Amino acid sequence: MIEFKDVGLVYPNGTVGLKNINATIKDGEFVVIVGLSGAGKSTFIRSINRLVTPTSGALSIDNENILDYKGSDLRKLRTKIGMIFQNYNLVNRTNVLRNVLAGRLGHTGTLRSILNLYKKEDISLAYESLQRVNIGEKIYNRADELSGGQQQRVSIARVLTQQPKYILADEPVASLDPPTSHQVMTYLKKINKEDNITTIVNLHFIDMAMEYADRIIGMRAGEIVFDGPASEVTEKT
Ligand code: ADP
Ligand code: ADP
Repeated sequence: MIEFKDVGLVYPNGTVGLKNINATIKDGEFVVIVGLSGAGKSTFIRSINRLVTPTSGALSIDNENILDYKGSDLRKLRTKIGMIFQNYNLVNRTNVLRNVLAGRLGHTGTLRSILNLYKKEDISLAYESLQRVNIGEKIYNRADELSGGQQQRVSIARVLTQQPKYILADEPVASLDPPTSHQVMTYLKKINKEDNITTIVNLHFIDMAMEYADRIIGMRAGEIVFDGPASEVTEKT
């Protein structure tokens, strides 16, 4: 469970990223955050894995206040949160399998991974994850030899290999064409339901949000202006 209580975030240059945010996200939910560019969607998501730190209020995950986390607490937190980005964040010159194994980093440690000391279970988990997003046949290609949609599916496989409790996806389809975007959203939704991974996705298209979200959070100028099921979104909101 993720709980924002009166959370505010002011960037060092004085820009307001978040203002009076109150929201509770329950285990297993599939939440889509919508809003124009600059609305605070990314700041909301990045607060949860502490890529940015709120400057007021309280933010807890699984009933622990994460705002004063550092060192090993932060590493543990980030191991249970899988991240998906607009630009995939794969290592281009490295093959798909190794990119996906990087999902085990938080579990195995960097040194083991540099030495290629993945356990047999890690490797079979990576294969299985790639199959779940239908990338089985490209595993020895370099990441930059894949199309955008394929790269995003590899990044989903990397997150599956991480076996996180939460998935945060920051504009995962913003660089993809409509059919590919639907494919990626369908995989995210399927994983949410099959593995019961609480998922938060940022999107800037409301129609896409309505199609996939159990719950929509609308943001504007750092604030939540709508929070409810897709069925309650009206013209006005
Ligand atoms: P969205 O994801 O909805 O596009 P963001 O969370 O990225 O919105 O941005 C919210 C506000 O915070 C915007 O005004 C943006 O310009 C500002 N902002 C984002 N990152 C920084 C930063 N590192 N420093 C200063 N201002 C920032
Ligand atoms: P999409 O419409 O999904 O973005 P692309 O047109 O980019 O697809 O790619 C179509 C096919 O070409 C994909 O199967 C991909 O593997 C292959 N491909 C794309 N870019 C490269 C590349 N730089 N080197 C090798 N194969 C590539």
